[in-house]
Amino acid sequence: MSGLSKSPWIIHYDASSCNGCDIEVLACLTPIFDVERLGVVNTGNPKHADIFLVTGAVNEQSRDVIRNIYNQMPEPKVVVAVGICAASGGIFRECYNISGGVDSVIPVDVYVPGCAARPEAIVDGVVQGLGVLEQKHRDMQAVPQNTDQILYLRAEKSDAPAILDLQKTAGQCEAEIYNDENLPALQQTLEELQNDFDRAIHIKAVINDKVIGSVRGQARDDTALVSGISVHPYYQRHDIGRRLVEEVEKAFPNAKRFEAFTGRPNKRSLHLLGRAGYQEFKTEPFTPAITWVYLQKERQ
Ligand code: SF4
Repeated sequence: MSGLSKSPWIIHYDASSCNGCDIEVLACLTPIFDVERLGVVNTGNPKHADIFLVTGAVNEQSRDVIRNIYNQMPEPKVVVAVGICAASGGIFRECYNISGGVDSVIPVDVYVPGCAARPEAIVDGVVQGLGVLEQKHRDMQAVPQNTDQILYLRAEKSDAPAILDLQKTAGQCEAEIYNDENLPALQQTLEELQNDFDRAIHIKAVINDKVIGSVRGQARDDTALVSGISVHPYYQRHDIGRRLVEEVEKAFPNAKRFEAFTGRPNKRSLHLLGRAGYQEFKTEPFTPAITWVYLQKERQ
C-alpha cells in the first residue's frame, strides 16, 4: 500500500440529500466509527482531496458544483456515491428537477447502498475506494512502460458502459479546456451510445482488459466520418489518439476520403489530427466558447 492510501483525504458534498445520509457520513467521523483511525482526513479543499463522497441525487443546482469539485481534485481520485439517491436518484428519481445519480455527471467508482446508508457501509465504501485509489495510482505509474502492450480492437455493444465511462472521464478534461460542460460526449446516455453501435464502428484501445481509448467511425457515401476520439487522461501524450484514428480508418477500406471534427480551442485534438494527416477545411460556431473545426484527408 502506498502512502497515498494510508492517509487519504476526503471531501464530502451534499448534492440534494434529505440529510439522512449526511448525518451518517458525519457519524463516520465521530469517535464511534472514527474513520481517522484508517488515516482518513476530512478536508474542505478539493485540491487536497483524494476521495469525493457525494450524498443525494443530482439536480440543476448541484450538477455544476459536482463537476467543479471533481475537476479541481488531482489525479488519481475516487468518487464514492453514498446512499441510493446518489446511486440512482432513489425515490426522487422521477422528480422534475432531478437528473439522476452522481454517475449522470461524473464517473463513480464505488456505490454505497442504503437509505440512509449505514456508517459501517460508508466506512466499507471508503475502504473499497482506497483499493481503487491504489490501483489508479499503480496504473498512472505504469503508463510509460506499458503503451506497447495496448491492443486496438473493434468494440462491441457490450463495451458501451466502459466507453461511456471513458468518454465522461476524458470529456471532463475537455470541458475544462473549453470552460463549457455542454459537450456532446458528456451529455450522451448509455442507451444512445448502445444504439449508435447499429450505425457506426467503434474502435477501442485496451490494456489489461481496461478500455483506455475509443474512437467512432461512420460511412457517408465515399467518406468515413471520424469522431469521438477519447483517451483516458493517464494515457494522454502517448500517441494513442493518433493510433486510434489510424485503426478506425482501416475499418473503412472503401472510403476515398476521411473527415473529422474537433473543437477550438482544443489544441491537443487539432495537433493529433494534424499528425494523422488531416487538414482544416471549414469551421462552424457551436457555443460562444467553442468553434467546431472540420478537417479532412484523402486516402493515400
Ligand atoms: S438515500 Fe435516503 S437517507 Fe440518503 S439522501 Fe436519499 S432519501 Fe435521504
